[in-house]
Formats: sequence, structure tokens, C-alpha cells
Amino acid sequence: MTDIERRKSAAPAPTSWDYAPAPESRDVVTLRERYGHYVGGEWLATPEEVDGAVRAAREAYANGWSELPGSERAKYLFRIARILQERSREFAVLESLNGGKPIKESRDVDLPLAAAHFFYYAGWADKLEYAFPNRRPKPVGVAGQIIPWNFPLLMLAWKIAPALACGNTVVLKPAETTPLSALLFCDIVRQAELPPGVVNIVTGDGRTGAALVTHEDVDKIAFTGSTEVGKAIQRELAGTSKKLTLELGGKAANVIFDDAALDQAVEGIINGIYFNQGHVCCAGSRLLVQESIYEQLIGKLKRRLATLRVGDPLDKNSDVGAINSKMQLERIEELVAAGKEEGAEIYQPPCKLPEKGYWFAPTVFTNVAQSYRIAQEEIFGPVLSVLTFRTPDEAVEKANNTMYGLSAGVWTEKGSRILWMAQRLHAGVVWANTYNRFDPASPFGGYRESGFGREGGRHGLEPYLEFE
Ligand code: NDP
Repeated sequence: MTDIERRKSAAPAPTSWDYAPAPESRDVVTLRERYGHYVGGEWLATPEEVDGAVRAAREAYANGWSELPGSERAKYLFRIARILQERSREFAVLESLNGGKPIKESRDVDLPLAAAHFFYYAGWADKLEYAFPNRRPKPVGVAGQIIPWNFPLLMLAWKIAPALACGNTVVLKPAETTPLSALLFCDIVRQAELPPGVVNIVTGDGRTGAALVTHEDVDKIAFTGSTEVGKAIQRELAGTSKKLTLELGGKAANVIFDDAALDQAVEGIINGIYFNQGHVCCAGSRLLVQESIYEQLIGKLKRRLATLRVGDPLDKNSDVGAINSKMQLERIEELVAAGKEEGAEIYQPPCKLPEKGYWFAPTVFTNVAQSYRIAQEEIFGPVLSVLTFRTPDEAVEKANNTMYGLSAGVWTEKGSRILWMAQRLHAGVVWANTYNRFDPASPFGGYRESGFGREGGRHGLEPYLEFE
């Protein structure tokens, strides 16, 4: 035995690793006492009506923006993308303060993807006639955009970047609980010297959103949020000429076959449901496991769950942050109580939740029947429902047994099975041997009650264009 080998065998095996607190500094952001609306390039001291914002957007549209050569519009979008990158630390900290998501996610996912969206659509701005050959694309006009609280800055980027690339102007309403990053974005709009009125941000609750939807001078509505509000908007716009895209809820199946690389699949399951506290429309909230690997997989999953660190969103070691609002926490608690009552078996790893704020421990439900509410309804929290299947046909049938159709995951070693499944799953996005992967070049959107229209990619330009 060599000296090194002897020392190695004498060393005690580490039993657990403790993480020292690693707080990100809050000093990089300044919060104001009060914010107004950002309309026509100005901060209004007294809150104006949505009408003022739409008028500002219309003026900017008519007075040059829509006529600007695509290459000029692209310059602004490239500028916005670069400034977002330059100020990404400030925005990441603010985004975690805004909604409670862990800093490592806002830093490594939300901010890079938001900037990537502006870069991507900047590239299309002067190539629209190549994107749609022989169709003479032109902008729609003023777009009203309503976004939710789960990815406040990223959803803003998904909405504003393609709209501006196509020559439209926008009025955007962030969610009531998470307006801060959208308001700081106005600073970037100014820094990039975007003409006043091209981007307008109005804050407020659902009533502000409703006023935007019904405003007669808005040409297009883009909405991301709950299926319930999406349906109300669709009813409201029926019979009008306004264009509409809806990106609504989901109850995605993440399907694990017995030939999958199980450790890799466990990482995908964790990322699929605990990313952003499960506040994700495409979250893999229904796990479908092939019966022959059920015990093994659940064992691995529970062991992995115990290593998740829940806590301070600004701590760089936190994996799971805070629940966005009291209302959302109550909704999660209500559905979890329903799951227990209906007979599912609950597992939560031992974890100490902070005393102040809204928190929910990562949760797995086994013994779930398809009829249970936790298998049917969108929980929008860190709660996974596990079901089993025996054959690929049964997996497809169970995966499609939902009113939604936004996303799905398939884990198998066989390429042919991935294609077979992807053809049969009713989902706008199917991830294979991965989950929650986003790229600005890839279209995203749903079927059925998950909505219609696509965001991202060349498809994402179409809702913001008319063709002669
Ligand atoms: P909402 O659909 O109410 O909110 C989404 C956006 O729409 C917000 O900006 C909201 O404003 C606005 N809004 C609300 N009512 C109207 C209206 N009548 N007309 C126009 N705009 C309106 O979602 P919630 O925040 O209430 O969340 C409820 C559930 O919806 C969640 O538990 C989750 O299941 C699902 N959800 C799905 C999302 C997705 O990405 N698909 C995102 C968010 C939620 P404000 O918030 O300021 O009132």
C-alpha cells in the first residue's frame, strides 16, 4: 500500500456537506417608495388611464416606428439585449426580490434567456420578407400584452422582442405582485433611446388588464396566465377583429420508460417540477413511471429530494425559493389537502422552512389515481403527482388524459420510441431525455385549454404580422 492509499483509507468518509450562507448583495438594486406608469417615454406622477398608454403607443406607431427600416429597429433591439446583459446582476437580484425565485435561477436562466430573446428577434427585424417569402409582411399596430408573475422579465422579453422586431408598438401590463423588473426595464428602454411611446408599461390588477383587452384602439392581445382569465378574454374578443394569442396553463406528463438512464431522469424530474417552485406552466407535474422500475425510481427520487435546499431566494445555494404570494400558497395547500383526502400518499423530505414569508416543502404524491384533483388540476407549486403505466400505449393514453396540452417529457434510450411518443402526445412541446429547456429559436405554445399561438422562433413573429 502506498502512502497516499494508506492516508485515504484512514480518512473518515464525509457524511454530509453543510453550506455556509452565500447571500447575494441587495445593494445593486434601489427600490423606490412608489412607481407610476411608463407612458410615452415619461414617468407619470399621477397614474393615468390605460387609454393614455394606448394613445402614446398609437402615436409612436404612426409617427415613424412602423415605417422604420427593419435594420434600424434591429439596432434598438440589439442595444436592449446588450444593456440587459450589462445590467444582468442588478436585474437578477431584483427579479428574485420581485417574485421569490432563487438567485441562481434568475441569474442563470431568466436573465440570459431574456437577453437571448432580444438578440434573436433583433436578427429577424430586417429579414421578415425572407421569413415569409412572397407574403409581404407588415406590422399589426398596437399590441396589448398581459403577463403573469412566474417569469416577469422573461415573459416581458417573449412579448416585447417579437412585437418590436415586426414594427409594432406595445402596452404591457405585468402582474400585480411582480411589476418591479418590468418597471426597471423602462430604464433600459430609455438608455437604448427607443423613441417615446414604442414601449409603455401600465401596472395594476386584473381590471387594468381588462381595460387593455377592451380598448378599441388595440389591434392585438397577447396573454399569458390562467386558463380561466384566458377564456374570459377570448369571450370578450369574439366578434372583434383583434388578433389574439393565449398561453395558458398545463398539467404536463413526464414519462419515464424502463430503459431510461434513471439518474439522469431523476435530475430531469427534479428540474421539471421544482424549478421556480413549480410556478411553471409547462412544469412536469404528472410523473408517469413504467411499473417495472417504479420502486427503484421512487427510491432515487426521494433520496435526491432530501438534498434540495429550500430557503432565502438571495442565497446562491438555495435550490427552491419562496412561494410567490399568500394567495398562491393557499391554492397549493388546498390542492395538497385534497390529494391527501382523496387517498394519495404524501412524501416531503425533512426540511426546515424559514419562519417569515411563504414557503412550501418539495412534495411527492404517490398512489395517485387519474381522477384525483392533484392529477387533473394545475397546482402551480412544488408538488409532483406520480402515476404508473405498463405499456407505451397506456403511457400515451394517461399522458393525454388532461384538458391541457402544453408540454411533455419522454425518457428512454430508444430514439424510435421518442419519435413514436412525440407523434402521439398532445403537447405543443415534447422534451426527450431533458426537461424545461428553452431557446428563443424554438416555438413554444399549447393545444386545447393550454391556449393557441406560438411564442419563440419564426412562428413567434406571425402573431405580430399581417400579410397583404
Ligand atoms: P391570472 O390569469 O389572473 O393572471 C395573469 C395576468 O392577467 C396578470 O397580469 C393579471 O393581473 C391579469 N388579469 C387578471 N384578470 C384579468 C382580466 N379579467 N383581464 C385581463 N387581464 C387579467 O393568474 P393568477 O395570477 O390569478 O394565477 C391563478 C392560477 O393561474 C395559478 O394558480 C396558476 O395555476 C395559473 N397561472 C398560469 C400561468 C401560466 O404561465 N400559464 C401564469 C400564472 C398563473 P393581476 O395579476 O395583476 O391581477
